[in-house]
Amino acid sequence: MKIASRMENLSPSVTMAITALARELKAQGKDILSFSAGEPDFDTPEVIKEAAIKAIKNGHTKYTAVEGTIETKKAIIKKLKTDHGLEYNLDEIIVSNGAKHSLFNLFQCLIEEGDEVIIPAPYWVTYPEQVKYSGGTPVFIETDDSTEFKITAEQLKAAITPKTKVLLLNTPSNPSGAVYTKDELLSLAEVLKGTDILVFTDEMYEKIIYDGNKFTAVASVNEDMFQRTITINGISKAVAMTGWRYGYVATAHKALVKAMTKLQGQVTSNVNSITLQAAVTALDGSADADIEKMRKEFEKRRDVAVQSFNDIKGISCVKPQGAFYLFVNIKEIGGDSMKFCADLLEKEGVAVVPGLAFGTEGYFRFSFATDLATIEEGIKRVKKFVEENY
Ligand code: PLP
Repeated sequence: MKIASRMENLSPSVTMAITALARELKAQGKDILSFSAGEPDFDTPEVIKEAAIKAIKNGHTKYTAVEGTIETKKAIIKKLKTDHGLEYNLDEIIVSNGAKHSLFNLFQCLIEEGDEVIIPAPYWVTYPEQVKYSGGTPVFIETDDSTEFKITAEQLKAAITPKTKVLLLNTPSNPSGAVYTKDELLSLAEVLKGTDILVFTDEMYEKIIYDGNKFTAVASVNEDMFQRTITINGISKAVAMTGWRYGYVATAHKALVKAMTKLQGQVTSNVNSITLQAAVTALDGSADADIEKMRKEFEKRRDVAVQSFNDIKGISCVKPQGAFYLFVNIKEIGGDSMKFCADLLEKEGVAVVPGLAFGTEGYFRFSFATDLATIEEGIKRVKKFVEENY
């Protein structure tokens, strides 16, 4: 049997591979602490579970409209209006099986062979793979901790070519936790003015934001950006619903939603009908107290973890403004992230993800979506590892 050649260019997800390896080692009885998964350790809020149970009992168990029920789309529209003042119609929203699926559909519907997609690095591992699979070319803009991993207007200007089709932003960022301010977004918007470049903004972590800051949605900064921006979001991270599979796209381009619906209609059809019902409760404010409780806990862990890493000689990290990851700088001790992570797992049983997987060498990603005691023990082991090996 020959596997189709289009699969040759697709790399497996490194984060998933490391998480699976850590799980396997644990199952073999090894003492493993894993900080590799991008998944909240909290359970889905009770009020959402109740909504799902009610959905089953009320017979929401059939196919729905491919792009999502009117009820779920109305909940998204209301959320975007309440949180960001954004106005969308029902035919400008489509719900898919997770934001990852939303992105896949987007790239498939928009990208032609050779189209360039600008991706700031470090990036979420999935972006370049999906771009390549759609026939596009990822164009990376390098960042580091000196700009808190954010691109500047000058960098964007330099990266644009006649082939540029999309600028992909991810705020707050996985893996760096970077959050763009309104002013920073306006300066990027200025560069895009007068071009046909679309902006994809992945705002999956928008509710996990720290230090009392307010999140700015990319589409909300001005009318020009509203027209060119396609917002991707979901409920996996902020509402602890990774397994439910629900992501959505909001865009002023109705033709794009139509194309995505056509594709989805031939591939997966609707999102699970029970999830569609439960998502209304996740989005309509009923779970806001639970969301805030989780956010506060993440903030507490972030503060402890940042302080503890910065106390280790030879490594450092900037304080992330959002999401639940630290992108830890190991340049002073050589910066070989693959070796660092492999040795750390072997010698101390601590699983973290090499920066190279996110396109930026000299760092590793540490997920603090786990309890405080485990975080403290994990960083203690990293300290011992660094002191004994570097
Ligand atoms: N976007 C970002 C930036 C992520 O980190 C992740 C998950 O790791 C996703 C999207 C995927 O979300 P979903 O579970 O909705 O597919």
